[in-house]
Amino acid sequence: MISARTRLAVVIGDPVRHSLSPALHNAAYREMGIDWVYVALEVPAGSAGAALAGLAALGIAGCSVTMPHKTAAAEACAVLTPAAAALRSVNTVTVVDGHLEGDSTDGPGFLAALAEAGVVPSGLRVLLCGAGGAARAVADALGRAGADVVVTARRTDAAAETAALAGGSTVPWTDRDSAVSECAVVVNATPIGMGGDGATVVAPGALLPGQIVADLVYHPLDTALLRAARERGAQSVDGLGMLVHQAALQIRRWTGSEAPIAAMRTAARAELTESGRA
Ligand code: NAP
Repeated sequence: MISARTRLAVVIGDPVRHSLSPALHNAAYREMGIDWVYVALEVPAGSAGAALAGLAALGIAGCSVTMPHKTAAAEACAVLTPAAAALRSVNTVTVVDGHLEGDSTDGPGFLAALAEAGVVPSGLRVLLCGAGGAARAVADALGRAGADVVVTARRTDAAAETAALAGGSTVPWTDRDSAVSECAVVVNATPIGMGGDGATVVAPGALLPGQIVADLVYHPLDTALLRAARERGAQSVDGLGMLVHQAALQIRRWTGSEAPIAAMRTAARAELTESGRA
């Protein structure tokens, strides 16, 4: 029951109504038995600074940040974690002693999903497809974890910027299929395959037994790329793990307690199924 004692956490974004974060966080709070509630606030572009400035006064425990506010949030925070500073992007704001601290949990969330699949990226060569916000977060995290990151994207300048975050290299977008054979891990950080259209970011025939193939796309959860990977004897890692773990890291930061991963995963699956996105 929501009462005068209930603590509030929020997500700001626009659009935000499709966000899975309320389902993930509220399931976690229920499972943890804490009197917290998490709501989505639609904040238009240009208003993130004003919204974040109100967090401390309102006593809001934490704020997730999604498009289009991640850069504005980085500018609004007094303190940034090394990842958030490198990316100039914040998805997690915590009020600490009245000031705002910004973090970026997408990259560490991706590493946690890999770890859950038994993958330790240190020393592995990773072909990272895409150079948008998610790819940048993954590149930064993989670089910090000691992976050899090779970025491929259709915009060469964006690919080079993303690779630089990891101290890595690039291959031309047109050469990505031949680059697959030189990599232990392939990551799709583009929307290719979203909506279950059957498209794959690399040719299915380029994938090899023993490789790890991770897709950030989570609707559908089992993309054509992941099916192709398993058919060829590779291990598939779906986008749900990253989604759950980036939220779990927020919860740990705000509450000081470990988040219940299994309950969050169940809630995310249910929400995806209910909204026809599984
Ligand atoms: P973004 O910032 O828009 O970046 C998308 C990237 O994919 C860009 O490099 C873009 O290239 C490229 N791209 C888009 N369509 C393409 C196409 N048809 N062919 C080749 N390249 C294409 O998006 P994002 O936030 O990084 O998200 C990327 C994907 O990751 C989305 O599907 C998103 O849902 C998913 N995601 C998942 C999680 C998770 O927790 N599992 C978290 C974040 C994002 P251009 O710059 O040339 O357009």
